[in-house]
Amino acid sequence: MNFRRRPRPTADEIFKWELENPDIAEWLHRSKISFAQSMKARLEESGSLTDNMVMAIRRIIEKENQSKPKQEAHSFDMAKLKAAMDKAFQNGLARPALSIDEFVITRAGDRSANPGALYVKHRDGTYLGKVTPGNLFVPIQGLATEISRRIVEIGKDPLTRAIEHGKRTGICSCCRRLLTNSESIEAGIGPICRSKFGW
Ligand SMILES: [Zn+2]
Repeated sequence: MNFRRRPRPTADEIFKWELENPDIAEWLHRSKISFAQSMKARLEESGSLTDNMVMAIRRIIEKENQSKPKQEAHSFDMAKLKAAMDKAFQNGLARPALSIDEFVITRAGDRSANPGALYVKHRDGTYLGKVTPGNLFVPIQGLATEISRRIVEIGKDPLTRAIEHGKRTGICSCCRRLLTNSESIEAGIGPICRSKFGW
């Protein structure tokens, strides 16, 4: 018997597994059924789930999706970011982009290879990952967990992160222009940009 031979995984190790399996992670964070609780406990114990467990959960998700139209917000949900980018597009920005911290988030065109997706790049142009039409962040392989975590944080509350960025840098996250009048500087975001993104 191998009692307690393996050390408990760190929070980062668990998060890394979740990023590789965002649909499962999303479900574990959201589901209230006891199977989800036991799978969550197992993930926290061992840092991963077996292929059989993953398949069982995917079957449940599939069933739930057939019967339940709406999902609650959860820790991997980039829906707020997606909604803001779509709103900006509807409000006339052909290529909406948000620059927050060192990240640049753009919206894939409706006729692109990934309609409905968002792309996340470093401001130097390095591709870091995408947000799927199901609003989950999928990082490139090998992306540092800490970077992924910060991108997920932006997805959860893009307005707050945009305002923080604007206050810290003096630059509007939406249009990358210098905030000039005192009201905008105080707000951390340009008022026209803010309304264009539906905020
Ligand atoms: Zn602006």
